[in-house]
Amino acid sequence: MFSLKEKNAIITGGGSGIGKAIALLFARQGAVVHIIELNSDNAQQAVDEIKQQGNEAFAYSADVSKQDQVLATIQQIGKVDILINNAGIAHVGNVENTSPADFDRVYDVNVKGAYNCLYAAIPLMKAQGGGAILNMASIASSVGIADRFAYSMSKGAIHAMSMSVARDYLKDKIRSNSISPARVHTPFVDGFIAKNYPGKEEEIFEKLSKSQPIGRMGQPDEVAALALYLCSDEAGFITGCDYPIDGGFIKL
Ligand code: NAD
Repeated sequence: MFSLKEKNAIITGGGSGIGKAIALLFARQGAVVHIIELNSDNAQQAVDEIKQQGNEAFAYSADVSKQDQVLATIQQIGKVDILINNAGIAHVGNVENTSPADFDRVYDVNVKGAYNCLYAAIPLMKAQGGGAILNMASIASSVGIADRFAYSMSKGAIHAMSMSVARDYLKDKIRSNSISPARVHTPFVDGFIAKNYPGKEEEIFEKLSKSQPIGRMGQPDEVAALALYLCSDEAGFITGCDYPIDGGFIKL
């Protein structure tokens, strides 16, 4: 079940957190993993860990918001069976304290970054006869998060993008789905706490954990397991869907 043998999987932002957990799991399931990362040290570290597992992986240093870098990298990879649009950045602020520069950067990475990867990967997937795309949204895409104006907007766009791609490329056997996590314990969350609550890290970590209905944050491996199912051939009947993985956040 859930074998990814002989599949080439591109994972953006695969050097940290959720993307790294997906990279390690997909490699264990037989995929050749290609990590596209801004942070080349972290990407190389992830590749080293994958090789220590006895699996195959490659690191590429690129900024997903730059179309020339993404096109060159994905064309170099050449074969794309799975694309995980995972790289993303956060921004704290409501409308009034989101500057045009902040807004542009969040959109450039979270939205245009995903588009750039689709633009490069879809022609390759079509030529190969199909593929699986998974886009990392957020619960912010459906309920909005207070003080995360640009971030919530960007994740809403990912949600719509994912469904639009699913419709357009159904006939090409390309499936497109998204995952919407609530808080998952990654460097993304640790960085947010350290920056905004210096000296109160443990207290805030506890508070954020308890604020989720299930009483804890998610783990990157839990998101990776869902990603594996959605990108496997066993999920061949699933496209155009969004899957919350949220400890009850949306429904309870
Ligand atoms: P993370 O910060 O641990 O990892 C993100 C990775 O993306 C980093 O390695 C970073 O270097 C890379 N990256 C950032 N900008 C990039 C760019 N321009 N080009 C290439 N790589 C870039 O974050 P995470 O928590 O693992 O989050 C991964 C995804 O999941 C993000 O899209 C995030 O919005 C989403 N998400 C996270 C949570 C959470 O609570 N952690 C919740 C919902 C959604």
